[in-house]
Amino acid sequence: MSDCRSCQPSVAEAVVIHPRSVKGKFRSFKTSVLVIAYAVYFLLPWIPWHRPVGHPQAVLFDLVNKKFYLFGLVVHAQDIFWLAALLFLAAVLLFFSTALAGRVFCGYFCFQTLWTDAFRWIEKGIQGDRVKRIRLDKQSWNGEKILKKGGTHLAWLALAFWTGLTFVLYWGYAPELIVKFFTGQAPAAAYYTAFGLMVTTYIAGGLMREKVCQHVCPYARFQSVMIDKDTLVPTYDPERGEGTVGRAKPTKLLKNLDERHAKGVGDCVDCGLCVQVCPVGIDIRDGMQYACIQCGLCIDACDTIMDAKGWDRGLIRYESENGLQHGKTHFWKLRTYGYGMAVVGSVAFLLWSMSGQKLVDASVRQIRSPLYVTLSDGRIQNRYNLKLENKSLQPARFELSIKGLPDAELDMGQIKDFNLRADQSQRIMVKVRKQVKPGDAKHQDFQFVFTPKTGEVHEPVMIHSQFITP
Ligand code: SF4
Ligand code: SF4
Repeated sequence: MSDCRSCQPSVAEAVVIHPRSVKGKFRSFKTSVLVIAYAVYFLLPWIPWHRPVGHPQAVLFDLVNKKFYLFGLVVHAQDIFWLAALLFLAAVLLFFSTALAGRVFCGYFCFQTLWTDAFRWIEKGIQGDRVKRIRLDKQSWNGEKILKKGGTHLAWLALAFWTGLTFVLYWGYAPELIVKFFTGQAPAAAYYTAFGLMVTTYIAGGLMREKVCQHVCPYARFQSVMIDKDTLVPTYDPERGEGTVGRAKPTKLLKNLDERHAKGVGDCVDCGLCVQVCPVGIDIRDGMQYACIQCGLCIDACDTIMDAKGWDRGLIRYESENGLQHGKTHFWKLRTYGYGMAVVGSVAFLLWSMSGQKLVDASVRQIRSPLYVTLSDGRIQNRYNLKLENKSLQPARFELSIKGLPDAELDMGQIKDFNLRADQSQRIMVKVRKQVKPGDAKHQDFQFVFTPKTGEVHEPVMIHSQFITP
């Protein structure tokens, strides 16, 4: 790393970073991601969704009944492996994107980036852009400073509170829960969660900002092992920027490219804009640094300068180390193929698993004390606890029978069949009786058969069990 030649303090020295606003394609992309992410996060709990069971809320995590409602999908406790598959997909997607384009997740999609961006917008709205904020920081405390700083922190706290409250609304019926929350009738966990998240959001997005990425997030530490000479990262082109004698400001004799190149001066006019817009306060011209979240804003800044001068864009650009050295960038290698296949495989597994979600779940547990009884007529009796869960969103009726145990009698007591409402389960105890002949096996395999009579399920559901004799 070369010495920093800009006026910006180093990351270690920086106390408060006040990035300058910039326009450009990466800024626009970041803004679009932010708007979509905020719209999704803040509006989802308020989208109504009518289904035969549960509250009419599109996304609802119902912990009490151990069910997650995601639009038309009802996720039961037994489907929790989907969560494991989702986490695996998120991990391989992160590895895949990092191998191809570095920390794109950090720069554009991470919660920390999105909330820090929003907090900075509030700050800019109240205190003005970079120069005004720096001046306000330096000036002594007076009415204006108290008003602007106080207003900023109050607005941050409001956004942080709404962030925490919105998270809570995913775990209950939002229209009811929000009323209970503000009238002091919500569960204590709702208040702890909302205020806990409010405090952490305020600290992370308002006070710590880029320091979370640099000193708290573990991803920043190990991402370097996923980046190699073919990974695209925002890169300053030193060959073009420095020429043979270095960068220089555009003085009278160094105005156009011909004059500069004739004197060995590079295309960088040392305006410092790329440093001023950087949200983590680093100078990309010093080479790749672990603090860089690869947001591309320095590219936008430099492109603005190049456009103003009428020179080619791309002095700072997404480039690989190989590309910078005029070599070929190899995107598709064993490693990226591996990550890519893991992504495709986990998406395919999730889709397959969700589309084939069982609409009915049956289980049997043999009652083991006693394992069997001998009745007065000489027959042997076993008892079983059966559970049938209708996971569909339609009522369903099933008849129960047994298969594979000739001459056996099934006793369901008063119950004739399983009559289940949508998303309802039923447990019953049944008895199976049979005359045992000499030579019969001590453990006889058979099946309980649930035959659907009404509802969405059309195939019989069979469940294996054993009949135990003396
Ligand atoms: S150096 Fe450029 S890409 Fe890296 S964080 Fe700063 S502005 Fe973003
Ligand atoms: S914005 Fe471009 S021209 Fe200005 S200092 Fe940065 S690299 Fe040089």
